[in-house]
Amino acid sequence: MSTAQESTASSSLPKFSRECPLCGSAGLTPAEISSEAYSLLECRACGVSFLSPLPNDYELACYYDEMYYGKNRKKFLTPIQIMVTAMTKSKWGKIQRLMVSGGRFLDIGCGRGTLVQKARAEGYEAYGIERNASPQHTEPHIFYKDLSECAFPDNHFQTIILFHVLEHLREPVETLREIRRILQPGGWLFLAVPNFGGAQARASGRDWFHLDLPRHLWHFNKRSLAKLLEQNGFHVQRTSTYSFEYDWYGTLQSWMNRAMGDENLLYAILKGERRFSAVGKIMRLAVASLLALPALINSIWDAARGEGGTLSMMAKKKELDALKR
Ligand SMILES: [Zn+2]
Repeated sequence: MSTAQESTASSSLPKFSRECPLCGSAGLTPAEISSEAYSLLECRACGVSFLSPLPNDYELACYYDEMYYGKNRKKFLTPIQIMVTAMTKSKWGKIQRLMVSGGRFLDIGCGRGTLVQKARAEGYEAYGIERNASPQHTEPHIFYKDLSECAFPDNHFQTIILFHVLEHLREPVETLREIRRILQPGGWLFLAVPNFGGAQARASGRDWFHLDLPRHLWHFNKRSLAKLLEQNGFHVQRTSTYSFEYDWYGTLQSWMNRAMGDENLLYAILKGERRFSAVGKIMRLAVASLLALPALINSIWDAARGEGGTLSMMAKKKELDALKR
C-alpha cells in the first residue's frame, strides 16, 4: 500500500503490450479478471499478470490523491492507525535479523517513516523514500523523490525493503536493478506484494480487496516474483504467504465486497471518509464485526496451505554480476 518509486525514464513502455514487459515473451493471454474499465494480460512464460494498457505517468498521478494517502498522511481513524503503527514496528524485528549492528537500511515507499524512525532509534543508519511530501510532513532522513534521483553510491545498503511497492511501479525491472546496484555484496532485499496466486485472490476475483486497479499494475504469484528476482540479480532465500496485517483485512473486505456489492466501503469508513450515512456505517461495522473472526481463521487457513494473501520474499544479492535476460 505504499507508494511507487520509479527509477529511470519511465515513459518507454508501449501503452498496449504485445510482449511481456518483464520477460519479453510474446505468449500473452487475457487474464480471467478483467472488467470493462481495466483489462489484465497474463504472461504464460513467467506467470505475471499486468494491467493493459498501462497508464501513463500523468494518469497514474491522478490515482494517488490525498484520499489515497490520507489527510495529513494519517491514513486511518486513530484506533486503526495505532494498530497499523504497532504492526509496522513488529516488522522491524524480522528486518533487524538481517542486519549487523548500526548497518545501513533503506525503506522504499516508507509512508510516514515509522520503520526508519524505529531503526534510527536503535542506532542504525536508516533512510526512507516516498513519492510526495505533504507540506506539513517533511520528515528528516526521508527523500521525497524517485529512487534513481537519490543517486546512492554502489554497494551502499545492507538491507533494503520494498513492502507493497513493486506492484505500483511502471518499470519494476529498472527499480530492481537499481536496488541491486546500491545493495552491498550479500545484502538483503525484503519485499512483499499481494499474492495473485493465493486463495483469497482466486476466490474473490474482481472483488478482491488487494486487486486495487488501476494502481496495482503488476500481479505476481510465487513463480513470477521469484523469476523476476532471479533474472535481476537476486537469490530468493525465503518465501512466505502470510501477513496478519494485510490478509485478515483483505479477506474480510473481499467477502463484504462480494456479499454486499460494495467497492471497499468498509475501508473508506475506516479511513474516516465522510460520504456515508450513519445507517450505512453502522450496518457495515456490524457485518464486519460478525465476519471478523471467520475472516481471520480463513486467512490463517489459506496461509497454512501456502496460499495466503500476501507474498513475501527475502532475497540476497547475487555475488557475481551475472544478470540473465
Ligand atoms: Zn513474462
